[in-house]
Amino acid sequence: MIMTSVAGNIKVLVDQIPTNIKIIAVSKFKPAEMLLEAYNLGLKRFGENYVQELVDKHQELPKDIEWHFIGHLQSNKVKYIAPFVHMIHSVDSFKLLVEINKQAKKNERIIDCLIQIYIAEEDSKSGIEETEFFEMLNNGSINDLTNIRICGLMGMSTFTENLEQIRKEFKLLKTISDKARSFEHKNIELKEISMGMSGDWQIAIEEGSTMIRIGSAIFGNRN
Ligand SMILES: *Cc1c(COP(=O)(O)O)cnc(C)c1O
Repeated sequence: MIMTSVAGNIKVLVDQIPTNIKIIAVSKFKPAEMLLEAYNLGLKRFGENYVQELVDKHQELPKDIEWHFIGHLQSNKVKYIAPFVHMIHSVDSFKLLVEINKQAKKNERIIDCLIQIYIAEEDSKSGIEETEFFEMLNNGSINDLTNIRICGLMGMSTFTENLEQIRKEFKLLKTISDKARSFEHKNIELKEISMGMSGDWQIAIEEGSTMIRIGSAIFGNRN
């Protein structure tokens, strides 16, 4: 049997990844046909980084796809994805949460969110610091945002060959998630940890990841 590379890649991954781990197929810059191929092979969760690209692909592709937004999100663009987005992994401010709540309400929806925590040792990665996250929780005003649900945390490790460094960062995210458990509330239930990409998903799962975001290991390198 001849398999395309996407089919082969998915088979290799699915054979290795425990079934309780959610695979988010990160499809930025890849054409809709490639996503459809992955969809037809059983992947139903896709992650995109750019609002316009997500809106276009949502229009074009099957309606039972779960769309995950994983890129930096500007408040003024939330309205475009609020009607359909399944989860926003990259929430990095209270202001953004307030806007997501407002747009969710307009669409009579509850939108699932993850708070992106800065765990890397480089300046380029986004997210909020651990202290800022706990200030946000202590403040209590998230509890008034009835049209969002905080489902957990997201983090990205440093881009490095040093696997112990990566492991340390993933451990940190898991520790923060455990510490934050005492703040659970009607709309805060910290059950997901979105960490691990093509190069480090094995370590991420060992350290407690529940969602891995896999791009190039499924769709090949991006230009
Ligand atoms: C692009 C991207 C990924 C996927 O990266 P790969 O290394 O191709 O698996 C995962 N998470 C985020 C936030 C991304 O921007």
